[in-house]
Amino acid sequence: MPNKLIALAAERLRAGGVVAFPTETVYGLGADARNEDAVRRVFAIKGRPAEHPLIVHLAEIDQAGAWAAEITQPARQLMARFWPGPLTLVLPARDDVPRVVTGGQDSVALRAPNHPMALALLRKFSGGLAAPSANRFGAVSPTEAWHVRTAFGMQVDQLLDGGPCRYGLESTIVSLLDERPRVLRPGALPLSALREVLGEDGIEFGEQPNLASPSVSSSLPRVPGSLAAHYAPATPLEIHPIEALPARAAALLNQGLRIALLRRNQSLRGKPSLPSLPQFLLPARAETYARSLYARLRELDRFAFDCVLVEAPPDDETWWAVNDRLSRAAASR
Ligand code: AMP
Ligand code: MG
Repeated sequence: MPNKLIALAAERLRAGGVVAFPTETVYGLGADARNEDAVRRVFAIKGRPAEHPLIVHLAEIDQAGAWAAEITQPARQLMARFWPGPLTLVLPARDDVPRVVTGGQDSVALRAPNHPMALALLRKFSGGLAAPSANRFGAVSPTEAWHVRTAFGMQVDQLLDGGPCRYGLESTIVSLLDERPRVLRPGALPLSALREVLGEDGIEFGEQPNLASPSVSSSLPRVPGSLAAHYAPATPLEIHPIEALPARAAALLNQGLRIALLRRNQSLRGKPSLPSLPQFLLPARAETYARSLYARLRELDRFAFDCVLVEAPPDDETWWAVNDRLSRAAASR
């Protein structure tokens, strides 16, 4: 572990700086969550609208009480079981939590990342770091250090390189503001893991009904990751079942478009024969597919295809988070 770099990063954070660091999900763009100016700089660098709240990253469960006004029983259970890990919990915020972090809401999102470098940084800094993904607002999240360097160059005060991220997909977000825990965003922690702790019927899904209140514009969701077009590459994507790919490809080729296929690396026996087009592959299993997805989408952008046809992954629970990100990446901008 590069202890000197981590000490330097902690010092810069204490001075109000912005430091990009690796987590097990994606790279984060961190600032002292108690320093309003530093947090504003994160919003400015990302080009993120101020209403989109940031996740506060912590090293220890014990620190949650400094941010959450109340830690309910299910919250305690989830932290004990999954922290550090790819699970973000939304809890009622204490009055002293800067509202610039929470997008003006009285709730705060907390997570302890399971990455040695992130944990070392958080311990050295010994406070909460507000850290959204280290990409421009709406773009594909970074899963390697050079993705951050390419997007932000010298705009960040320091970039810690921890290699490729293990999950490559954002954390699962669970709100504990209602009686029953509610999944606001599918992510790296599988639903099956949540069920083990909360029980088969212990989870709700989607945004709280009260978020649809007329005073809140529908273009400003409380969960930024819930915007229809988010996590989007520059290349237009279309998702189709593999059986539908030949006809769709033929139609687009007829229009004279430059297209490519993005599909799972598995046998095509018994499947329709695919047109001979540039093909990009992703691993066949959900976990490894997720790990490579964002890097592959970035790579595709370099070719500037008019359209990339994506083979739809299976429609089952293990692919839930991947299907969520793919459909947002494909949503028209
Ligand atoms: P990202 O840019 O991927 O790190 O996005 C951070 C995620 O944390 C977003 O999807 C936010 O909606 C979510 N988040 C942070 N604070 C809150 C909150 N108070 N209520 C609901 N979601 C939150
Ligand atoms: Mg993000």
